[in-house]
Amino acid sequence: MQDHLTRRAFLGTTATAAVAPWATTRLEAAEAVAGEPKKSFRAGAFAIDITPRELPVIVNGGVAERTADQVVDPLHARCLVLDDGATQLAIVAVDSCLIPRVLLDDAKQQAASATGMAAERMLISATHTHSAPSVIACLGSDCDERYAAWLPGRIAEGIRLAQENLAPARVGWAVGEDRKNVFCRRFRMKPSTALTNPFSGTRDDLAQMNPGYENANAIEPLGPVDPAVTVLSIQSPAGRPIALLANYSTHYAGSPALSADYFGVFCKRMAQRLGAEGSDPPFMAMLTNGTSGDANCCDFRHARRPFDYLSVAEDVSLAAWEACKQIDYHDWTPLGMQERRLTLAVRKPVAKEVARAKQYLATEVQQRKPRTWTEVYARETVLLSQMAPTRELKLQAIRIGGLGIAAMPCEVYGVTGLRIRRGSPLKPTLNISLANGCEGYLPPPEQFPLGGYTTWRARSSCLEVEAEPKIAAAVLDLLEQVAGTT
Ligand SMILES: [Zn+2]
Repeated sequence: MQDHLTRRAFLGTTATAAVAPWATTRLEAAEAVAGEPKKSFRAGAFAIDITPRELPVIVNGGVAERTADQVVDPLHARCLVLDDGATQLAIVAVDSCLIPRVLLDDAKQQAASATGMAAERMLISATHTHSAPSVIACLGSDCDERYAAWLPGRIAEGIRLAQENLAPARVGWAVGEDRKNVFCRRFRMKPSTALTNPFSGTRDDLAQMNPGYENANAIEPLGPVDPAVTVLSIQSPAGRPIALLANYSTHYAGSPALSADYFGVFCKRMAQRLGAEGSDPPFMAMLTNGTSGDANCCDFRHARRPFDYLSVAEDVSLAAWEACKQIDYHDWTPLGMQERRLTLAVRKPVAKEVARAKQYLATEVQQRKPRTWTEVYARETVLLSQMAPTRELKLQAIRIGGLGIAAMPCEVYGVTGLRIRRGSPLKPTLNISLANGCEGYLPPPEQFPLGGYTTWRARSSCLEVEAEPKIAAAVLDLLEQVAGTT
């Protein structure tokens, strides 16, 4: 106990670096007193290659559809299985922009059959690389059906192989920081200067995403960002690196397709930094996307700085590595996981808006694919009118000793992520976006009157205005449950 307190006091000098594994310490102490046999903690990791076998493929993530016919770097589903003797769970990060719940539910069912693990004990998220095959139609892009049919089986196989690698392990966690690569991309603009969109469901927009560098009409960024680089490190009892789960909240860096973007380079760099290349079974790092719905690598308040996906990976891996040096490892720590479904209303267009969009599409777009913002959002208006009035979301919370993980199927803003981290009984807590589905952007209610891209009504931004506080409250409740404080 004294050890932990001393270390915590020492780490307290780096603001966000509180380790605070109080619950673990208390449990371990209780166990020692009771004289029970020592519990075993096990971990297994496997990064399965999910690079498409056939090219070209459709790539989503942009306004208009793209295709890719080359592989710049391979794509993976990075699978981690943890087991504390009572609970077994899987955490997976897939090199994909957005993955719909139906695909992930399929992957979980297949993995459950192969492993005996419950589907409710699996968290699968998309890294949000914008350079991967499309597995869901989004804005101007269609789904690459052939790849989407192949992917669930690969993810399930990755989880099975991670489970097969289960071996005694010790775990620890810490929080580093990288302020160089995360900035709010959403700005308050001078009146009448923000981009508008006639089919967005907004009027007189005062907010704009990516206003351009040193734009005199851009008044201020509209939200805080989360610069934390949170790490969960897993080693063999002798200290050999097995896996590392990291989390950072910038959108993506940008890479030519097909590529895992900086998420993939980060994993390679961590293996190098930890001296874990060539180990058997292979060391696996994974970088999950935090709350980056309104954040990216561009500081628009100043002139453009040089950066690319390689430099971002270098910076974030350095921050993760520095955090690793502070870790206090636990030979055993308790696991907890809870899942909840939440039904939310969808922002639907009214009949007049739908009629106007249909008329526009009939005269301007006809049978071809939409290309411009206006064309895309006219089509989105029609598509949304045909969709169900509600959506069911899957929310999860995980506890790994004193570390909390909140998982949400949305592109969450920084302010929401910071609020969840502050309110969570588990310190630290990290947030994983685009987990267990993709239900679109999640602007806080006060952002809607300002308009701007992430509020524009589309399949990728259609949850009710009150969705953000409802999701945050549900996730905090789940964190309380896994922490055992309720
Ligand atoms: Zn994006």
